[in-house]
Amino acid sequence: YSGKHDKDKGVNVQVVVRCRPLSEDEVRLRTPVVISCNDNGREVCAAQNIANKQIDRTFIFDKVFGLSSQQKDLYDHAVSPIVFEVLEGYNCTIFAYGQTGTGKTYTMEGGARKKNGEFPSDAGVIPRAVKQIFDILETQNAEYNMKVTFLELYNEEITDLLAPEECSKFIEDKSKKPIALMEDGKGGVLVRGLEEEIVTTANEIYKILEKGSAKRRTAETLLNKQSSRSHSIFSITIHIKEFTPEGDEMIKCGKLNLVDLAGSENVSRSGAKEGRAREAGEINKSLLTLGRIINSLVEHSGHIPYRDSKLTRLLRDSLGGKTKTCIIATISPSIHCLEETLSTLDYAHRAK
Ligand code: ADP
Ligand code: MG
Repeated sequence: YSGKHDKDKGVNVQVVVRCRPLSEDEVRLRTPVVISCNDNGREVCAAQNIANKQIDRTFIFDKVFGLSSQQKDLYDHAVSPIVFEVLEGYNCTIFAYGQTGTGKTYTMEGGARKKNGEFPSDAGVIPRAVKQIFDILETQNAEYNMKVTFLELYNEEITDLLAPEECSKFIEDKSKKPIALMEDGKGGVLVRGLEEEIVTTANEIYKILEKGSAKRRTAETLLNKQSSRSHSIFSITIHIKEFTPEGDEMIKCGKLNLVDLAGSENVSRSGAKEGRAREAGEINKSLLTLGRIINSLVEHSGHIPYRDSKLTRLLRDSLGGKTKTCIIATISPSIHCLEETLSTLDYAHRAK
């Protein structure tokens, strides 16, 4: 990833793969590892050698992060260049895509909590991006304004993860207007009723992130829903005041969306069966639409079907045009996940 503006090509989609390590249980059970990542860091190989079933496939991506990769490696190589673009006025999106249990949430959130004022080494993409943004703005001595939103999309319905308890959707309140999507007439989308928090320090965002994640878990338990079926979108919008060489005031606006997608297994499974619960169909719709949109962006084809799902409508102003996208495909090294891993790698590879 060059980190350079590619104005001629316009769109820049980067795809990286991250393989998590074996869990303690998997180590104890001596689970065979079927994934290997090569030295130069762009190839991932899935190989299984059982008498009646031989698989040996190699895929090339923009970057591959192996089993022992650290949060910092991934951040520095895949995300940090994109944060610079956001501060240059680009709308950028980082997606975590993969089977449930492969590390999407670990990669995006990780250990967000600051321990004794120290930045934890397992902090994920969101807290690291927040830190980098504040660090840069502070060294630039910039005059800026920053807002964050955090929402969850479940069953094509939006839950505001930052709303005060009594307003949240999972506690029934018929008097409240539901959160709704509206076009803003400028190519973007407005989410009516969504809480926007203005933040002035990195610590405030860490707190917001924790509050939102805790709420996501509570909602899960209360409604008996599975996090594997929901998408979460954490967005940071920054306005920076600048001056042109002529001395005129100018506002530069950039946006960073950090998206923890629903488990990719929901796509393949629900796709296989006819007439399943609406839920599966809706997840399907968002992930499949996303896949189609990324394909059209990569191929520069004309029609882009944003309207086909809420996820893509929400991200409309950040997909296509002056934007950068990074997909982090997460996989498990275990032999038991091989089939799902191959479908993740195929999906991610199509986006290239
Ligand atoms: P997902 O969000 O994709 O369902 P999680 O992020 O919840 O997956 O990860 C599943 C488990 O694996 C968690 O216990 C998490 O801490 C652990 N894990 C995932 N990726 C890594 C990694 N790269 N290093 C260490 N532990 C990881
Ligand atoms: Mg998760």
